[in-house]
Parts: sequence; C-alpha cells; structure tokens
Amino acid sequence: MGILEVKDVNKRFGGLQALGNVNLSVKENTVHAIIGPNGAGKSTLLNCLVGKLIPDTGSVMFDGQSVLGRKPFEINQMGISRVFQTPEIFGDLTVFENMMIPIFARRDGSFRLHAIESVQNEKELREKAEKMLEDVNMLDKRNMHTASMSRGDKRRLEMAMCLIQEPKLLLLDEPTAGMARADTNNTIDLLKQIKAERDITMAIIEHDMHVVFSLADRITVLAQGTPLVEDSPENIKGHPKVREAYLGE
Ligand code: ADP
Ligand code: MG
Repeated sequence: MGILEVKDVNKRFGGLQALGNVNLSVKENTVHAIIGPNGAGKSTLLNCLVGKLIPDTGSVMFDGQSVLGRKPFEINQMGISRVFQTPEIFGDLTVFENMMIPIFARRDGSFRLHAIESVQNEKELREKAEKMLEDVNMLDKRNMHTASMSRGDKRRLEMAMCLIQEPKLLLLDEPTAGMARADTNNTIDLLKQIKAERDITMAIIEHDMHVVFSLADRITVLAQGTPLVEDSPENIKGHPKVREAYLGE
C-alpha cells in the first residue's frame, strides 16, 4: 500500500474525458514523477488529490483515509501541500510575512492571525520560519516584497511555504516551468536536499526530463487521461511506447 492510492478515477469536463480510469500508487518517502504531453490530465489529477476538483468516480486514499468530499484546507491538514503551476504568493507582503500565512492557515483553515495560541507561540514560529528560509537560501531576502522577485525566488518561497507545514506529501506542478537553467538546477538541488533531510513523499509533474531523471524514483506516463506505463526511470528511458507517445519518436 502506498501513502497515496488513486483507484479508477474518472473526470469529465462536458464531453471531454480528462481522466479515464486512473490508477496510481505512490510509495512513502519516494519521489514519483507524473509526465505526459500537454493536456494529458496531469493538473486535473493533482486537482483531484487536493480537493480542487471532485472525480466523477473512483477513490483517492491518503494515509489510509479518503480525501474525497473533504475541503482543500482539510486535505492540507491531513498532510498534503501543493506547489502550484503558477506561484501563489502574496505580492504585497514581504517574504517573511508570506511565510507566516501557511502556519496560521493550517490551524483551522481561516486566517485568524490573532488567536491567543498563535501569539503565545509566536517566537517559536518565527524561528521556524527563519530556519525554513535559511534552508531554501532566502533568509537574506526576508524583508523583500515578493512582487519584484525572480521566478526562481518565488518558487523557492512557495516551496518554503509548503514545507513549513511539514507535509507528508508534497505535490509539485511543474516546479521549474519558466525557469532559467541555473534556477532549474538550484531547484533540483533543493528538492534533493529536502528528500535527503526529511520524511517526505513527493509527487511531481514536470516537463523537463533532466529534472525528472534527476529526482524520480518512479515515473508514471499519462497520455490522454490514462496511465500508459509506470516504471523506474531506467526502464522509462528506453520504453518504446513512451518514446513514441511522449518523446514523439
Ligand atoms: P495537463 O496538466 O496534463 O497539461 P490538464 O489536466 O490541465 O492537462 O487538462 C487536461 C484536459 O482537460 C485538457 O484537454 C484541458 O483543456 C481540459 N481541462 C482542464 N481543466 C478544465 C476545466 N476546468 N474545464 C474544462 N476543461 C478542462
Ligand atoms: Mg498542467
């Protein structure tokens, strides 16, 4: 049994079958990559895992519990955090202020920043946020407003905002999209470091095969809403069906 078990998930948008009988098992403490051409249903699948979309049929179990029917914040409290395809941070706030948001949001799904419990723990929480920023190499930018930051820095901040929640499962939707090569390599290093230092499982959607093969323990290839093959990176590289359907050979 994986920490995440997706069984026979179907999702239609009107006449379009975005997901057709998707089965996916993600083992604890592994990095599982989901690859596939544009429109294959990768983001739709992720949305079904975090409560943004509800599958028409099928089941999604995380850590032995069903996520279906739960609100996104409840799923977040179960231990799933997600890095979006486009960074979702607050441009008007500083880096450090952004870090405070997930800490408080986690508690009850609201943004009650002045709860008594929160004030009592403030010193501890601030230290935790600082440590996390140090881990992603952004402590020197703690007072910067985020609107003007590079895409790489926004990504790093967003990852720190996810990681401070100490998720059991981190979902990443194209974490290096639109990044320059140097930022992509930094992101690979950061994710490798996270993987080495924590008990964490990651499911990563990624177009850049260099990123995929640098990080993944298992790879699922999605094509037209259905898993085509699931295997180790070594086998995926040489798989004729993958080369044909995905790499365009
Ligand atoms: P991927 O992330 O693999 O590129 P998506 O999951 O975003 O693919 O999309 C899968 C298919 O579903 C695409 O054909 C897309 O146009 C369609 N789709 C995605 N979201 C919606 C939506 N909210 N309404 C209608 N169609 C959608
Ligand atoms: Mg997508």
